[in-house]
Amino acid sequence: MSNSLLDALSTAGLLCPVITAGHQDYDRYRRVWNGIADRLPLAIVRPQTVEDVQNAVRAAASSGVLLAVRGGGHSIPGLSTCDDGLVIDMSLLRSTIIDDDNQTVEVGGGALLGDLDRTTVPKGYVVPAGVISHTGVAGLTLGGGMGWASRKYGLTIDSLLGAEIVLATGDITWTSATWNPELFWGIRGGGGNFGIVTRFKFQLHALTGTIAGQWTYPVENARQVLSSLRDRARQQSRDFTVSFTASPSGINVTAVWSGDAGLARATLSPFGTLAEGASGGLENLPYLTLQSRNDVAFAWSRRYYVKGGFWSDISDQAIEHIIQAIAEAPAPDCEIYAIQLGGAVSDIPDDATAYTGRNAGYYWLSEPIWDNMADDDKCIAWGRKTGRLLSDASIIGNYVNEQGDTGSSVARDAYGPEKYQRLARLKARLDPANLFRLNQNIEPQE
Ligand SMILES: Cc1cc2nc3c(=O)[nH]c(=O)nc-3n(C[C@H](O)[C@H](O)[C@H](O)COP(=O)(O)OP(=O)(O)OC[C@H]3O[C@@H](n4cnc5c(N)ncnc54)[C@H](O)[C@@H]3O)c2cc1C
Repeated sequence: MSNSLLDALSTAGLLCPVITAGHQDYDRYRRVWNGIADRLPLAIVRPQTVEDVQNAVRAAASSGVLLAVRGGGHSIPGLSTCDDGLVIDMSLLRSTIIDDDNQTVEVGGGALLGDLDRTTVPKGYVVPAGVISHTGVAGLTLGGGMGWASRKYGLTIDSLLGAEIVLATGDITWTSATWNPELFWGIRGGGGNFGIVTRFKFQLHALTGTIAGQWTYPVENARQVLSSLRDRARQQSRDFTVSFTASPSGINVTAVWSGDAGLARATLSPFGTLAEGASGGLENLPYLTLQSRNDVAFAWSRRYYVKGGFWSDISDQAIEHIIQAIAEAPAPDCEIYAIQLGGAVSDIPDDATAYTGRNAGYYWLSEPIWDNMADDDKCIAWGRKTGRLLSDASIIGNYVNEQGDTGSSVARDAYGPEKYQRLARLKARLDPANLFRLNQNIEPQE
């Protein structure tokens, strides 16, 4: 099996090197963001051209080995690497090209959010995406993509105009609302199930100034902080987004305003008086700073587990579960995070894209973070238990991008039976052998 992959790669006409164990860069290139995902692929290729991607896909298909596709390497369960298979690492295909006349940007399939923001923001534009700049555009977009600009401008997929994609046959196609529309429906939430995206085309939006308030409250005041936050957040316009992180060291609240600057203080200040004991305040925050201010907290190579879900609002029951979970946290960086959704995300009908959960008010995460392998079991157990408790207060649907567990139930539960069947039919048409199966997998079914 292994020889057949190496043989196939050696005759595939690749312009890029094939990196195998023993190569000086093997350990560097096999690393992914989550330190838990320490895998030993048989070979890693880093395409320099779209033809390299096509040839590598054909080599993987003909040899029958496991294939992992890597964009930014941030898959929480480590789905962009594998043992004994081929990794197609897209990180050299990360160009970003703005078309000012049409207010669009084209982004390579290996770009990071920071690459995108550093191209668009200085020109006064934004594409709504995630909140950590070292996350990959590809994985994030294909699952949906939510962040600070989502209430104003929607999910990342809502700004997607089209994508160039290498299919399981190695053939290349374009997909948009008018060209291969079913595939376009599927890649807007269906993850990497249908092929390798080599290029995305996004609509740009006007970037307005951002003012943020950031406060930390003592953990003893969690109940009052979270219930007041909920009540005050309900009345806000889509220029406003709030998130919180609850951990043993306190409750961090971040409120971001991207509307009329004259209204910023009056809108944001109430989030600094949710309860007694706040430290922090307001600041004008350049968008690039906002997008990267937590990069270090989510550094590469620490150990992570995540379980997430949607709330329609922050219920009293969820608040009690959060308080209980923090009290039981086995490590200081065991957190519960939530970000406000709604606004433009909910303008799009749920059946318009594969992404499921448009009516949610919040997305929450149970996310333990730790450093020692010896703590794996207890931290993951805490993450799962907290996730189960918070799921009790959750609504149907889920976000495939932020799940630390894998297995066929993850995608089925996330999309629900109707959408799952539609995705499974598309998968059967485009990837009947399930070559692209290292993802929250949709099993091909006519
Ligand atoms: C620190 C951190 C912060 C995050 N913040 C946010 C956030 O704010 N908002 C949000 O919505 N999500 C967020 N996420 C979740 C994130 O969207 C997913 O982890 C996503 O999969 C990361 O994409 P990637 O390209 O970096 O991942 P990778 O691990 O490279 O890829 C993940 C999967 O995407 C697919 N894939 C990757 N590249 C391609 C490609 N070019 N073509 C086809 N398929 C491909 C593959 O199936 C792969 O298994 C965050 C994750 C992390 C770890």
